Amino acid sequence: MQDNDCIFCKIISGKIPSRKLYEDDLIYAFHDINPAAPVHFLIIPKSHIPTLSDASAAHEAALGRMLAKVGELAREAGCTDGYRTMINCGRVGRQEVYHLHMHVVGGPDPLPPMLVFER
Ligand code: 5GP
Ligand code: ZN
Repeated sequence: MQDNDCIFCKIISGKIPSRKLYEDDLIYAFHDINPAAPVHFLIIPKSHIPTLSDASAAHEAALGRMLAKVGELAREAGCTDGYRTMINCGRVGRQEVYHLHMHVVGGPDPLPPMLVFER
């Protein structure tokens, strides 16, 4: 359920402080410590799922809750006319924290293009 070495599991249990936005039985939402935009928060499942590729039917309730809640949380954070969600997965996706998390980013109107490829 929880991983003792995982920083996001420690945030959920309160061992590491965070600026919490929301919590229920399945998910936890908090401001990113190094925001990439005026609004940048993370929504995570309370159970330790390392990456999106590790998700299975057992996680449907938590993953569904993340998607069902994001609109309300983004609106409350000031994103009344749109925002962007991202889930980085694994090495190629440049995931840094291996506890599945959805980034919610907003503020600039409009946001920059989704991906900028270096040529
Ligand atoms: P990733 O690259 O894995 O998709 O994103 C990890 C995110 O977690 C980064 O945006 C980083 O700023 C954020 N982060 C890493 N450690 C902490 C922490 O201890 N507290 C908070 N609030 N965010 C963190
Ligand atoms: Zn974890």
